[in-house]
Amino acid sequence: MRYYSTRGETTDETRTFSDILLRGLAPDGGLYMPVEYPHVSAQDLARWVRVYREQGYAALAFEVMSLFIDDIPADDLRALCERAYAQEVFGSREVVPVTNLPDGMYLLHLSNGPTAAFKDMAMQMLGQLFEYVLRREGRELNIVGATSGDTGSSAEYAMLGKSGIRVFMLTPAGRMTAFQRAQMYGLRDPAIINIAVDGVFDDCQDIVKEISADADFKAKYSIGAVNSINWARLLAQVVYYVAAWIQVSADPRRTVSFSVPTGNFGDVCAGHIARSMGVPIDRLIVATNENDVLDEFFRTGVYRVRSAGETRATSSPSMDISKASNFERFIFDLVGRDQARVRDLFGQQLRAHGEFSLAGSPEFSNARIRHGFLSGSSTHADRIDSIRSLYRHNQTIIDPHTADAWKVGRDAFRGGVVEPPLVVLETALPVKFAETIEEALGFKPDIPARFADIESQPQHVLNLPNDAEAVKQLIRATVSGG
Ligand SMILES: *Cc1c(COP(=O)(O)O)cnc(C)c1O
Repeated sequence: MRYYSTRGETTDETRTFSDILLRGLAPDGGLYMPVEYPHVSAQDLARWVRVYREQGYAALAFEVMSLFIDDIPADDLRALCERAYAQEVFGSREVVPVTNLPDGMYLLHLSNGPTAAFKDMAMQMLGQLFEYVLRREGRELNIVGATSGDTGSSAEYAMLGKSGIRVFMLTPAGRMTAFQRAQMYGLRDPAIINIAVDGVFDDCQDIVKEISADADFKAKYSIGAVNSINWARLLAQVVYYVAAWIQVSADPRRTVSFSVPTGNFGDVCAGHIARSMGVPIDRLIVATNENDVLDEFFRTGVYRVRSAGETRATSSPSMDISKASNFERFIFDLVGRDQARVRDLFGQQLRAHGEFSLAGSPEFSNARIRHGFLSGSSTHADRIDSIRSLYRHNQTIIDPHTADAWKVGRDAFRGGVVEPPLVVLETALPVKFAETIEEALGFKPDIPARFADIESQPQHVLNLPNDAEAVKQLIRATVSGG
């Protein structure tokens, strides 16, 4: 399988999987995509059902990902999948178990990994792939990132103990929850360097941008990133849509719909890829919080990014986005993979006007008709209400992000626009957002045994001023000091 950019001028310049693995954006500013989606037949699906049931999630992950990765020998790729999705790491053989909700709805548990959020599903695999490809090429990598919580801890746990990889993670001092701080700063490993910057998340992100913009520094110190636009992250996420369909249906004629709490459009884009490959998926529901850029697009055809000032801080913070970084991949498919069109929409119109419109075009109606998309949004009051109602009727506690998906999914269900079965994606454990749970239920959620004394462990973090030069100096000293 070869890859090319959503904005590339010709399809001749294609690249291998290993080549795009460590890259962020394509040089033309686009995102990498496979030149085509492999098509799965009824026989393939039947085999996948057997593989998952008899051999487990890692074996299924190998089946799905090997369709997109042909430059890593099969035995090696299988071993990487087995290490990424070990039963001991995710706590069950299914890795992503499904439980029942009322009325033909189901919950797909994606947050049983090391950091209790679904980002582990992709990041654990990314850690294995990075280590493998770096070792093969005799390279090392210094990952520099900024986080306000979930992504950073997930990246640190994924890269922990991987040879040739160091992580420098910038966090806004005093602005994460006690649990998030404990998760990250509790790691004690010389290759995991937590930095508390005297500033807010945007300051951290600006420092990362400044460092990445310094080409000499970047090359000299092998600086890299674990972007949300990384193709391998998306690919790893395709697997759990297949695992969900197997657990809920396993019948090629019986499709399943999904309601997905959406921020950067990574999770639901993986669903779109699974559906495009022929996995029996009916509807994909994009559920947003008050930051409803994407709900607005699917309702109106207008994609209007928001400024930082217009982006609200909500109680489902991992979905507080102003611009959905993976959305270009879907638009690429929606406009029939017309790269000139994507260049115009994202490279020209969005840049010049902060928005573009596909309203009234045949392409836009295809978002719903051909690609099965629906959308909706949810508010803080909805989240509180959803958490409360699901606890009362089903004794299930869901986190605020999952609550957004449950609310939007159930509305679509009641409105008759979605048929059962409908699977709601659970993207974090409630323990990570204990304050909101307490507001809804009057008590704090149980702390899973594996996190029981996390907050009492010693923490490792370096305090630095809000200054890119200070961070660079730390990188220089750390890297040259071995
Ligand atoms: C990242 C995240 C999301 C949003 O996922 P996208 O792939 O960015 O759409 C939803 N819920 C939680 C808990 C997250 O960490």
